[in-house]
Amino acid sequence: MGVRWVLGIESTAHTFSFGAVTEDREPIPSSSSIIRPTEGGIHPREAADHHSDNASRLLQGLLSTHSLSMNNLVGVAYSQGPGLGPCLRVGASVARAISTARNVPLIGVNHCVAHIEIGRTVCGCDDPVLLYVSGGNTQVITRLDGRYRVLGETMDIGIGNMLDKFARHHGYPFPGGPEIEKAALLHRESVKSPSIVGLELPYAVQGMDLAFSGLLNAADTLVEKGASFEAVCWSLQEHAFAASIEVAERALAHTGKKELLLGGGVACNERIREMSDIMCRERGGSAHWPPKMYCIDNGTMIALLGLLQLESIGPTELLDSGVDQMLRTDMTPVAWA
Ligand code: AMP
Ligand code: MG
Repeated sequence: MGVRWVLGIESTAHTFSFGAVTEDREPIPSSSSIIRPTEGGIHPREAADHHSDNASRLLQGLLSTHSLSMNNLVGVAYSQGPGLGPCLRVGASVARAISTARNVPLIGVNHCVAHIEIGRTVCGCDDPVLLYVSGGNTQVITRLDGRYRVLGETMDIGIGNMLDKFARHHGYPFPGGPEIEKAALLHRESVKSPSIVGLELPYAVQGMDLAFSGLLNAADTLVEKGASFEAVCWSLQEHAFAASIEVAERALAHTGKKELLLGGGVACNERIREMSDIMCRERGGSAHWPPKMYCIDNGTMIALLGLLQLESIGPTELLDSGVDQMLRTDMTPVAWA
């Protein structure tokens, strides 16, 4: 017989990923590939080519690693948006093909909502405020009146995109976030005293919203004027993370909620985790984050949300299965919570 399972396909931007979840909501790790351009940023069409070139190899990898049989497939979920159009269309086409060939339901899901649901499931949070810090998105989100509402967000670029651009300007290819984390740690360890004085950078919190491009420019200028790259990395992280956590804290205060959940690739960073933990403990709350494989974009979270949607709302009709590059977090009714 074997386990019955739902397939999830992630293809919003740099990552193509197949993941799965069993019918009783047990997450199964994904089989993924990330495009790493040798120069410049992510080009949507090149990323889409990468996704279609790797699709069958990755699907085979998922099936063989976890001994999953296509005969036990009960649904195919895919990221319907938001994201880069050419990339989204690869995932949607693969999903439609598998759904039709295997005669199983097709489920289009909201990528941002998937980050929340994998975090809730894996961390066991009930009703968190999500600080969603990824490459393209930076949002503070929580559930109110049957939707995940965006309480605050970046007015320009995503926090991860800011880190990637800064790293790229100084010779580190995508993804730059982990390199900045390493450099910041080197600086922290090189400063002997327990207190460490940061470099001055803009701190862009505007009410409940954030902005990162001024911070990026100022950090670039500091390095150009001779400041050490490691020292700037440390200050850049401190400013960007403190601003994000300040907005998240205000969201906790306004809503009276107690749990903070981190999601998105930047949630892999140990320093943002530590700062979140300090803020939450000071308020008598708690901070949570899933393992790194579920912070970054992954097919497993798409499969999980697909299953939740299939059980509560039902499948996506072929006619409604088109991708939506601009899909907003609060456009998806939360029928399963
Ligand atoms: P996502 O868009 O959610 O898949 O996340 C990708 C983003 O996460 C990229 O901008 C990465 O640079 C960033 N990222 C991954 N790991 C880390 C890290 N350890 N520290 C900071 N940013 C990171
Ligand atoms: Mg993401």
